[in-house]
Amino acid sequence: GDDLVVAVDRVMRHADGARRMSVRANADTADDAARARRFGAQGIGLCRTEHMFLGDRRTLVERLILADTDDEREKQLGELLPLQREDFVGILEAMDGLPVTIRLLDPPLHEFLPDITELSVRVAVAEARGEPRENDLRMLQAVHKLHEQNPMLGLRGVRLGVVIPGLFEMQSRAILEAAAQRIQAGGVPRVEIMVPLVANVQEFETVKQAIIQVAREVRTETGVHLEFLVGTMIELPRAAMTADQIAEAAEFFSFGTNDLTQTTWGFSRDDVEAAFFSAYLEKGIFGVSPFESLDVEGVGELVRIATEKGRSRRPGLKLGVCGEHGGDPDSVHFFDRVGLDYVSCSPFRVPVARLEAGRGDRT
Ligand code: PEP
Ligand code: MG
Repeated sequence: GDDLVVAVDRVMRHADGARRMSVRANADTADDAARARRFGAQGIGLCRTEHMFLGDRRTLVERLILADTDDEREKQLGELLPLQREDFVGILEAMDGLPVTIRLLDPPLHEFLPDITELSVRVAVAEARGEPRENDLRMLQAVHKLHEQNPMLGLRGVRLGVVIPGLFEMQSRAILEAAAQRIQAGGVPRVEIMVPLVANVQEFETVKQAIIQVAREVRTETGVHLEFLVGTMIELPRAAMTADQIAEAAEFFSFGTNDLTQTTWGFSRDDVEAAFFSAYLEKGIFGVSPFESLDVEGVGELVRIATEKGRSRRPGLKLGVCGEHGGDPDSVHFFDRVGLDYVSCSPFRVPVARLEAGRGDRT
C-alpha cells in the first residue's frame, strides 16, 4: 500500500518537474475546488456560474426574466447578489493564492424558463375554473416571446449579458466584492473574469467596460485595491478568426472546445447519440467522436490560428483550454505543441493531465 503511494507520488513529481503547461480544474463549488486542489490543480480554469441560478434560486431568476420595470429587475438582482457573493467567497477561499477563472452566465435561456406545456396546462385549468392567475399568464406570455427554435444558437452567454441590463454587472460585483472580502481577511484572491460565447470584439468591449465601471465602484466602496483580469472564451469560429482584434481588449483566452467543436462541424453537442453520428462512427468517417478527442485538423487548426493571431497583438497573452478535451491525453499533447499555458479539466482528470503534460511531445 504505502510503497505504491510513494511510487505514484514519485512519478507525479517527475511529471510535474517535466511539464511546461500548468494544469487547472473546472469546478463550480467550494467543495469541488478543494477536491481539485487535493488532486494537484494549480487553479480553476472554469467556474461555471449557471448552477448558482438553478435549484432554490430559480424563482428569483424567473422573476428577473419577468421583470418589466427597471425597479423590479434591480430588486431581483439585489436579492441574487449576496447569494452569488457567498458562492465566490467559498471558491476563492478554497483556491487562495491560485488563479480562479469565473465565467459569467452562459446557459441558453430556456434552461431558466418554466416548462411551457406545464405552464399552459396550469393557465388553462385556472381559466376553466374561472380563477385566472395573473402571474402564470404573464410568465406564459414571456416564455412564448422568448421561445427559440435553436436555443444553443440563441440567447446565451454574452448575448444574455447584453440583453438583460444589470445581469453581468451583478455577477461582476459579486465576484469583486468577494475578492475584496478575501483581501480584507488576509487572503490572496487571484480573480479572472471570463466572458462566454463572444463572436466579435465589440461584444467583449461592451461587457468589459461595464466590468471596469463596477470595479471602480467596488474599489471606492470598500477601499480595497483590486487587481483582476478580464478575458474571454474562444469557442466560436469567428472569435478564433478575429482573435487578433479580440486580443487587443482581452487579457486572456480560454478555448471552449465543446462549443468550438459543435460550431465548427455544425452538429449539436447535445445530440451526439443521433442516428447520423453513430452511423459515422460505424462507417469510420470519424474513428472517435470529435467531442472526445480533439479534431486536430479542423478545431485544432482554429485553436492554432487564434493562438498565433492573439499573440501577434498581445505577446504573452495567457492561453488555456477548458473544454472536455483539456483532460484527454492526445488533446493535451496537441495543446502543449500549440503553446497553450494551461489545460483545465474535471478534478478527477487532473492527475492524468499532469502526467500527460509531463510526458512531452509524442509526435
Ligand atoms: C466549451 O464550450 O468548451 C466550454 C468549456 O463551455 P461549456 O461546456 O460550458 O459550454
Ligand atoms: Mg461553451
